[in-house]
Amino acid sequence: DVRVRFAPSPTGMFHVGGARSALFNWAVAKQTGGTFVLRIEDTDASRNKPEWVDGILAAHAALGMHTDDPTFEGPYFQSENRGKHQDATRRLLDAGSAYYCDCTRDDVAARTGNQHSGYDGHCRDRGLTEAPGRALRFRTPDTGETQVVDLIRGNPVFPNDAMEDFVVARGDGSPVFLLANVVDDLDEGITHVIRGEEHLSNTPKQQLLWAALGAEPPVWAHLPVIVNEKRQKLSKRRDKVALEDYLAEGYLPDAMVNYLMLLGWAPGNDEEILPFAEMIERFRIEDVNSASAFFDLKKLAAFNGEYIRKMDVDAFVAACGPWLRAPHAPWAEERFDAAAFAAVAPLAQSRVALLGDITDNVDFLFLDEPVHDEKSWNKAMKPGAAELLTDVRAALADLEPWAAEQLKDTVASTGEQHGMKLGKAQAPVRVAVTGRTVGLPLFESLEVLGRERTLGRIDAALA
Ligand code: GLU
Repeated sequence: DVRVRFAPSPTGMFHVGGARSALFNWAVAKQTGGTFVLRIEDTDASRNKPEWVDGILAAHAALGMHTDDPTFEGPYFQSENRGKHQDATRRLLDAGSAYYCDCTRDDVAARTGNQHSGYDGHCRDRGLTEAPGRALRFRTPDTGETQVVDLIRGNPVFPNDAMEDFVVARGDGSPVFLLANVVDDLDEGITHVIRGEEHLSNTPKQQLLWAALGAEPPVWAHLPVIVNEKRQKLSKRRDKVALEDYLAEGYLPDAMVNYLMLLGWAPGNDEEILPFAEMIERFRIEDVNSASAFFDLKKLAAFNGEYIRKMDVDAFVAACGPWLRAPHAPWAEERFDAAAFAAVAPLAQSRVALLGDITDNVDFLFLDEPVHDEKSWNKAMKPGAAELLTDVRAALADLEPWAAEQLKDTVASTGEQHGMKLGKAQAPVRVAVTGRTVGLPLFESLEVLGRERTLGRIDAALA
């Protein structure tokens, strides 16, 4: 039975790259009828924080993933497996696969004449016993090679003589990542390790550990690195990488899932927007590309816009909820008018890429005065605009009925009298009433805003 796992370290905000790894694992588990295991690798007490663990769990919930082991609710916590890590180091020592070493980095550098050389094997046959400060090193083979089965990278071969005798437990007895990670995978019955490319260089070492612990190694799949538009690896210092930040801006979980699934994989037939259930069916880990995957923010926003347009309008109205209240919305809570919002929601739904864009699109309805920005104002209030507005105002004062079509005809015919095409005549009306040069279809907006407020705003603009 296929058992896969996602094993994040809670050392920061949950990263979109982590979400991609989790989703690929989830897809493999679901399509094979296998099991997905979430394991929090929380052994680095100096870098872990409980809120980062909460972030991982919240992200899994938002994207619809969870440990689905019938025998264990999960998630696993690596820190709870300390005893097994220690047993494993003991077994390696007893089998002669590991030895104690008291060399410092300087000792090694003094012998090899190179600060960066790997370990030179000095303590291999000294027979040192356990003592505080002595690290435990794994004895790597001197000859031969280690081949790993990697479903994405064509089974790379690593010469053993290039592998130093690496540390498995530190001078204070604590097991290192390489070992704890293997012991947990073994313990949890993991059959396929699907993870980021940055771990490829650890893989031959880990495979030797699997063998030394008497187990068949798993199949590996190292996912391509994710890069920004400058082809730099996404980093939390440079790029927006926290899944939570995307969700907070109004990216929909479904759109995120869809986009993340395409980072290194394509469903084929030039199809890109697909329900997750269908992607799970079509996903093949062997088809994942080894070349770096571009995290294209524009494309993600376009996907999100498509997902927004596919929502039922009621669902869209509900999803906008948080952005229509403080702290996102700049208007006083009691100024919000649900009926007015519902009237313009279908117009807004086709225009916004992010739910967070909704606020700027509808603020003219709920602010006492429209936003004012000098640049937009100057752009729209060209010579002749005041005269036009004066006549538009007069024509609108007793327009019947107050409806989009009639509003449009009025502005069009008044514009004609001023030698302006509709597009030109619309601009000063829009900026006077909404404060902006772009926005929802103007005449529907005026219909919803109502005569009194529309005229009041034109008067204020003319004053
Ligand atoms: N905790 C490791 C990481 O977050 C896990 C590596 C692995 O998946 O084996 O990079």
